[in-house]
Amino acid sequence: MLKQDLHIHTTYSTSDSAVVPEQTIALVAAVKHARIVGISDHFENLANGQFRGYSNEVRKAGLKLGLEIDGHAWANEAARYDVDYFIYHCRDQDDDYRALENLLAANRPVIIAHPNALGTDLNRVPTECLIEINNRYIWRSDWETFYRPFKKKFRFVLGSDAHQPNWLSLTIALYAASRLGVEEYLLF
Ligand SMILES: [Zn+2]
Ligand SMILES: [Zn+2]
Repeated sequence: MLKQDLHIHTTYSTSDSAVVPEQTIALVAAVKHARIVGISDHFENLANGQFRGYSNEVRKAGLKLGLEIDGHAWANEAARYDVDYFIYHCRDQDDDYRALENLLAANRPVIIAHPNALGTDLNRVPTECLIEINNRYIWRSDWETFYRPFKKKFRFVLGSDAHQPNWLSLTIALYAASRLGVEEYLLF
């Protein structure tokens, strides 16, 4: 069993065409591929009245409750929601780094989502953030060059970014973490 996976989408990510109808909270909870499992659906799909049902269902399944937030446009609103952690898209723009400060002020862990895929400048990210090694995206870049300079600056978490049941895995993220010599940080 894996130790932790906090980046998982379900059918609540209604705008995401990669999610399949079988990817329900109930199925993820039943598979229980990791000791610590958290659901992190897209906040923009939840902000319009869907959050309460989402929250109830995740809690009832005994899983950690997260949100994936798409940059500064959503950060201030998301910071007010009662969740266990945030996953944040931080593109390389001033507004996104600024909004990240507000998110951190909400006193919940903030995971910087697949920074290698979004061009996040990790020099501009505060050290209290957790940096994701994302199983879906890590291999699509020169990840050694991207991550290695920041090995000592940050704590790292591994996430599957599963949108389908067979994506509930951390194979490539574990490989990259071991090549980099970074230890997975467990949040809960
Ligand atoms: Zn993402
Ligand atoms: Zn995601």
